[in-house]
Amino acid sequence: MSSVRHHPKTQTLADFAAGRLDEARAVVVATHLGLCADCTKAVSDFESVGGHLLETTKPVEMAHDALEKILARADVTANVIVPASPALDQPERNLPLSGFLKGSIDDVKWKRVAPGLSQSVIEAQGYRQGVLRLLKIEPGTQMPKHSHSGNELTLILRGAYEDEIGDFGVGDLADLDGEYTHTPKAKGDEPCICLIATAAPLKFKTLAGRIAQPFIGL
Ligand SMILES: [Zn+2]
Repeated sequence: MSSVRHHPKTQTLADFAAGRLDEARAVVVATHLGLCADCTKAVSDFESVGGHLLETTKPVEMAHDALEKILARADVTANVIVPASPALDQPERNLPLSGFLKGSIDDVKWKRVAPGLSQSVIEAQGYRQGVLRLLKIEPGTQMPKHSHSGNELTLILRGAYEDEIGDFGVGDLADLDGEYTHTPKAKGDEPCICLIATAAPLKFKTLAGRIAQPFIGL
């Protein structure tokens, strides 16, 4: 029985299992898996049966019951890897996130970006600065209405927030794409701390930006 209510999309879990996610998003999904037996099982199932099926099939929008259908067709009993001890009180201690944080989440150095809003970019090799970061929303703070450019994964590490989708608490993962606009508001007495991975590369709106992009390393 898990208290996690919001999970990655089936396609995101399939991409994770097939190694198709960039590192930043893979870190967020892997940290969620450490807290969620259901998604750990789903990834394990994809790894057992999904590999060649996914690679030989054209990418399509997957139905919510796609995993069950694949498993029924393949008649497979998957090896289930259940996290040893999902630690919802200190999710950042799960690998691989713990390897990126130099110490406790309480020692993170925050940079204020707006009233009630701070962030901390997680330094790591192999991807663009800012692709993986922590965001802290002070209690009662409502973020301005915004949409997302490209796919973005947000995992709650501390506290809670609510938005147009529903209530998000520790372990919940919001799997958002560019079509979605929302206004999250921190709930409760403690700050809400989220781990966020934004899909790389940046999408520039101007022609000059697109031409310069390969040369400036973004
Ligand atoms: Zn899950």
